[in-house]
Amino acid sequence: MSIFDKFKAMAETRHELDLLGIDPFSVQIDDILSPTEGIINGRPTILAGTNNYLGLTFDPECIAATHEALEHEGTGTTGSRMANGSYTGHRKLEQELAEFYGKRDGIVFSTGYLANLGMLSTLAGPDDMVLLDADCHASIYDGCRLGGARFLRFRHNKPDDLARRMERLGDKAKNTLIITEGLYSMLGDRAPLKEIVEIKREYGGYLLVDEAHSLGVLGERGCGLAEELGLIEDIDFLVGTFSKSLGGAGGFCVSDHAELDLIRYLSRPYIFTASPSPATIATTRQALRTLAAGTHLRKKLQENYERLHAGLSALGYTLGADPSPVIAVVFDDKLESLQFWNDLLQLGIYVNMMLPPATPNGMFLVRCSVSAAHTFEQIDTICGAFAELQVSPMKVTAMQGG
Ligand code: PMP
Repeated sequence: MSIFDKFKAMAETRHELDLLGIDPFSVQIDDILSPTEGIINGRPTILAGTNNYLGLTFDPECIAATHEALEHEGTGTTGSRMANGSYTGHRKLEQELAEFYGKRDGIVFSTGYLANLGMLSTLAGPDDMVLLDADCHASIYDGCRLGGARFLRFRHNKPDDLARRMERLGDKAKNTLIITEGLYSMLGDRAPLKEIVEIKREYGGYLLVDEAHSLGVLGERGCGLAEELGLIEDIDFLVGTFSKSLGGAGGFCVSDHAELDLIRYLSRPYIFTASPSPATIATTRQALRTLAAGTHLRKKLQENYERLHAGLSALGYTLGADPSPVIAVVFDDKLESLQFWNDLLQLGIYVNMMLPPATPNGMFLVRCSVSAAHTFEQIDTICGAFAELQVSPMKVTAMQGG
């Protein structure tokens, strides 16, 4: 017996990919030219797998804010906020996020992953019950595990199943934490938040919504799905990340519950890790200001994703959901999907390959992520590549770079 025995299955998968000459999980972008263009394997490539929904990573104001923070506050905080102190920007960002959502207060974590880990491990302990949508992100599952809560899944986007489970809990429903996402990252489908809120109203409980993929994308002001549906007040804990629409790194939770402040004293993923660097905080604050200032980026994003969705539908591809910036093309076969992903890369289009267990129901997904920074020409080039491969799929003979 060796501690490495459990790596064998993964080693075999890696070996299979090596034999095919395809490894979607170690793509190196040699040069980043813009939010939507890079050089991969020496080839100019359209980046359509980035989560860079608003294309803010090269925004001049965000870059200027980053420079200024670097010069005035240095490269890193070198410690956690509890042990080593907060910088003014940490607290300001929390207040700005709270104001943006119209919530009482906010708390910032070092990544989106840690926001879920930090909130859930603290909110839900061994005596607590959590009901979560089966397709929730790994960070939500990990947060529940870290806190030792009892958790049950309800069927993805099936409020009836949630209601049945709440009913079965009887009196305990009042203290149950319900968790969903806004826009789901694998298929790009939206949570039936209205129905879920109604269930919470009927049975009691608390509701946490992870808007990682909907912040900056949905809602009049870009707050996310809860805003689009007029439900922000009904959400107890709104979680999000800075790493997608805001083009930075970090995560947050906003809430009206006064107890949010106590999370800082109890949450291990908040206490025992270094706080976001000043540059990260400055970028995020500027990106939030840009996001809140107008609707043009959201409108452009919507035009882009509707165009790509319509183009791929017209070609007859099976897509994961209605139009959203996450457009997943569903394949029946693992090898076929890997070959397709690789062929796209060889045509200069980078998208994401999603395989089980990361995908729901063991699906094989070639996932595009659309940005406001894409031009119509780029969207049409992506559609053109999908059309070309439909007619004559290239053979998996060449290496990834071949
Ligand atoms: N929540 C959801 C729903 C996500 O999709 C992700 C990232 N894919 C995260 C949280 C984690 O965010 P981050 O990558 O910023 O840590």
